Amino acid sequence: MKYALVTGGSRGIGRAVSVKLAQLGYHIIINYVSRTDAAEETLRLVREAGSDGEMLQFNVGDAEQVKAALESWQKAHEDEYIEVVVNNAGIRRDNLMALMPAEDWYSVINVTLGGFYNVTAPLIPQMQFHKFGRIINMASVSGIMGMQGQTNYSAAKGGLVAATKALAKEVARKNITVNAVAPGFIKTDMVEGLDEAALKKTIPANRFGQPEEVAELVAFLASPQAGYITGNVISINGGLYT
Ligand code: NAP
Repeated sequence: MKYALVTGGSRGIGRAVSVKLAQLGYHIIINYVSRTDAAEETLRLVREAGSDGEMLQFNVGDAEQVKAALESWQKAHEDEYIEVVVNNAGIRRDNLMALMPAEDWYSVINVTLGGFYNVTAPLIPQMQFHKFGRIINMASVSGIMGMQGQTNYSAAKGGLVAATKALAKEVARKNITVNAVAPGFIKTDMVEGLDEAALKKTIPANRFGQPEEVAELVAFLASPQAGYITGNVISINGGLYT
């Protein structure tokens, strides 16, 4: 059995990634923080896709919670390891910098960067031992071009891009790849409330992307065929920014 952990697998892009990896035969560990109902629906879709999975609740930004959850998973699966991790959990708390409460600055940074560290670091030794691993980080166009009203989010995603490049160099010899995916506007709960009609005029493709389109890219990066792609950021944004 091959195991893939998808953080924020309960909804949006994480759900689509979970289903796609399930179609490829992965057993999916569906992480979520609060929406048990949504995680259950992802699990149902994973099973419908012909594989199986399990739900694992933890806040990626809470080091103790992540440690406890991953240790108990490993205890229950002594001879197994998580060979694919998709660091997808994310939040946004948009505001102009001058008006941004400190809590909104730190929470976005912590979920993205703290989450990346908390979840990924404990999985690396097993990947190194097995000489195979895939680490895929969900960045954003915001982390590459910078977006007004999102200094926290741009900083977090830009930091994730830099961490992707650095970690890739640390683990490449062990056949572990580390890449980031940088979506533009993708139709999920996260973009609820945005003015889609106005925003899509700024996108050359003249539409928002679908979570399933992002999932296809993630699945390719997770595959053995993508073994020579590492330390890269791949944009998927309808031409919004290149
Ligand atoms: P979404 O629909 O809002 O879903 C967010 C997911 O993250 C949910 O599964 C949520 O779990 C989980 N999550 C949030 N905070 C968490 C935490 N502290 N610990 C564990 N899980 C947590 O978002 P999405 O649009 O699919 O976004 C997925 C990723 O893509 C994010 O990193 C986002 O920044 C990035 N992204 C999205 C877009 C876009 O346009 N949608 C563009 C660029 C990048 P619950 O269901 O339990 O709340």
